[in-house]
Amino acid sequence: MKEQIEKLFKENDLSDDALLSLIQTDECDEILAEKADDVRRKIYGDEVYLRGLIEFTNYCKNDCYYCGIRRSNKCAERYRMSFDDIIATCDKGYSLGFRTFVLQGGEDPYFTDDKICEIVSNIRSKYPDCAITLSIGEKSKESYKAYFDAGANRYLLRHETATDGHYRRLHPEEMSLTNRKECLFNLKEIGYQVGAGFMVGSPYQTPENIVADLRFLQMLEPDMIGMGPFIAQGQTPFAEFKSGTLELTLRLISILRLLFPYALIPATTALGTIHPKGREMGIKAGANVLMPNLTPSDERKKYLLYDNKICMDDDAAMCKNCLETRISSIGYKIVNSVGNVKRERI
Ligand code: SAH
Repeated sequence: MKEQIEKLFKENDLSDDALLSLIQTDECDEILAEKADDVRRKIYGDEVYLRGLIEFTNYCKNDCYYCGIRRSNKCAERYRMSFDDIIATCDKGYSLGFRTFVLQGGEDPYFTDDKICEIVSNIRSKYPDCAITLSIGEKSKESYKAYFDAGANRYLLRHETATDGHYRRLHPEEMSLTNRKECLFNLKEIGYQVGAGFMVGSPYQTPENIVADLRFLQMLEPDMIGMGPFIAQGQTPFAEFKSGTLELTLRLISILRLLFPYALIPATTALGTIHPKGREMGIKAGANVLMPNLTPSDERKKYLLYDNKICMDDDAAMCKNCLETRISSIGYKIVNSVGNVKRERI
């Protein structure tokens, strides 16, 4: 196994069989993390980038079985932030030092392309030095292009799983993996910095599925890879499923760093939810991005993709201070820069 890790370190790739074994053993976690840290330090030093997350709507027309804001969840209390509240949240974030705003939401038809473009172009003209990231699901190529022309420059759309059969078990019939993948390639073609990714330990996920995810990512060559543990939400069909584990998530973060040395990889809020030090451990395992929540607390409490989400009562300033302390305690530093990928494409 040691030789395989050395090979992964040198060549940024491994055979399917070797990846499968590496994913399934806990014997190499320490050395994987060491190598991943080495690679990250060569490219990004000790810098950790912040993305200010604004969860601006929890209305969703989709019905993904794992997600707490799926349309069939009649218990979810729905909200939409107003244009003014979204801009005010950016203002607050900017004054705290955030230089990337991530507008995330369910697929909410209320926010037409015109409305999204209006929001994006306003943020763009107010904050020309910031990155504007959208994470609002599957749209037509024309819509993506319109947002891009309005000033958006990054897009997060996790592929969720690259295997058709697995995709079918996580989503209703009306959704399609082919379409989701096509969206990702469209986004790249338009010129966005693109983030894909998947949940660790989602129901029915096999190690073979994970290898397929890694292969898909190699084909896509995204700039960002978002990967956090699946956590059950009590009002979904997957309420009784176990969460993804800390160990496997950390192992996969290290493997991602070795396969994609240049990638921007977040230590996710979901990782911080399954363990109090999850995000710190994620950074140590090779992640280099954190996404603190800027959403005002009334709305934040309603954006419940999964149960027991952390930081529900903290405001943005508290979240930033808290993370700065946590990150410096493990030997890295949070920087206020826009945090672009250190290569055009991975
Ligand atoms: N509507 C947007 C944003 C989705 S929410 C879109 O379709 O891209 C962002 C991510 O949260 C999802 O891509 C999914 O991977 C993750 N997520 C959803 N439910 C989750 C759960 N129960 N546990 C962990 N992550 C979850």
